[in-house]
Amino acid sequence: MNITVVGSGYVGLVTGTCFAEMGNHVTCIDIDQDKIEKLKKGIIPIYEPGLEAMVAKNVENGSLHFSTNLEVGMKKSKVIFIAVGTPMGEDGSADLQYVLSVASEIGQKMHKPIIVVDKSTVPVGTADKVAEVISKELKQRDEDIEFHVVSNPEFLKEGAALQDFMKPDRIVIGADNDMAFETMRDLYAPFTVNHDRMIEMDVRSAEMTKYVANAMLATKISFMNEIANICELVDADVNQVRIGIGSDSRIGYSFIYPGSGYGGSCFPKDVKALKKIAEDQGYDAGLISSVEAVNDKQKLVIAEKIVKRFGDDLSGKVFALWGLAFKPGTDDMREAPAIYIAKELVKRGAKIKAYDPKAMHEAQTFYLKDTPNISYYDSKYETLGDANAMILLTEWKEFRSPDFEELKMKLVEPIIFDGRNQYSHLRLESKGFEYYQIGKRTET
Ligand code: NAD
Repeated sequence: MNITVVGSGYVGLVTGTCFAEMGNHVTCIDIDQDKIEKLKKGIIPIYEPGLEAMVAKNVENGSLHFSTNLEVGMKKSKVIFIAVGTPMGEDGSADLQYVLSVASEIGQKMHKPIIVVDKSTVPVGTADKVAEVISKELKQRDEDIEFHVVSNPEFLKEGAALQDFMKPDRIVIGADNDMAFETMRDLYAPFTVNHDRMIEMDVRSAEMTKYVANAMLATKISFMNEIANICELVDADVNQVRIGIGSDSRIGYSFIYPGSGYGGSCFPKDVKALKKIAEDQGYDAGLISSVEAVNDKQKLVIAEKIVKRFGDDLSGKVFALWGLAFKPGTDDMREAPAIYIAKELVKRGAKIKAYDPKAMHEAQTFYLKDTPNISYYDSKYETLGDANAMILLTEWKEFRSPDFEELKMKLVEPIIFDGRNQYSHLRLESKGFEYYQIGKRTET
């Protein structure tokens, strides 16, 4: 099938590449000229394991193309995916300006029947708005061309995006037309060979499903973080409690790991947007508001522990910071706890020596660009010299089993603040470390 994907970011680029990999002819569009030029040269603007090789292969065999010109892709395509950003608007709702501007461009440039697929995460009712905008443009051109708007939210995880797209848990399709369902079934057939993963529903329910999935996962994280904070107060160990509850098959082990809170491009904005969707209907979504409030507090729990240990004034103190990305496997730092913690420590006079395997460029160029007193190093061990403590904020595999003797030798004092509960307190204490983690009291 000939398809066009508008927006070549994390979702659009992965979507386009995976469809090309399955034998489709794909054109990925972006308004960012620089991004498209880089992609044409085989330079991938994001870090996503396996993506570079898959893009290169499909560009080489002629299945994948890049352009800034939507018309180029639209000429041949039967299906147009919208995969542009839907960032948080000022009032917390999803900002639809990019989605609707693509819809308007589609309406101006379409010359034959098409299926428009919303892959961006969008509030309930957006497919109707997209349809309205396209119809308006067609009317202005005095054209009457058939089109259908489908909702196909994306559930991939950054860091495992290719795997998630190629072998999805489910493919949610919301449509109001048999032909649209049939086309989407054809397109996704290669991804459902093993067993049927298509879940078909009405458009509004599909739009809602994406928000509910993310809000449910965020709820599990905030619930466990709140439990961690209570555990600490009553001198229980959340690491043991987690295993105790996860063994119940109704609860399960996934997404109940305590830590420094959720970040990234999706959970924070989608939880906020769902709250706003409810609010717009006059409904006070108390639970969802609390999920957000708990997370906001949680992002600073490690900073609070540091202040408790070293005092309010951190002038003259140096901290080795391991991990900047909001989670391992990505260079994405959007809403990462590391941003909040680094800024808080610097505000109190501390110096930070940071290392992340993939996110240093993002930190230096965008997220911590204007924060003074942060220096960046090429390896985790280089951050340790003169540091009063090591702080771990992203659970990259290379941080899981470091050489603790080297840590002890290089740190001014053998102190670790672990925002992801990666180490065993018994092991570290036996090695002479002062070890602080989430949800377990440290005896000092
Ligand atoms: P992104 O910011 O990485 O990419 C968006 C791209 O769209 C950018 O390259 C931007 O230049 C481009 N763009 C904006 N306006 C355009 C226009 N008019 N024409 C062409 N291109 C345009 O965003 P993302 O992370 O890929 O997210 C896209 C959507 O998918 C969002 O709604 C997001 O919530 C959702 N989503 C993201 C993830 C994720 O893990 N990143 C997962 C599931 C769903």
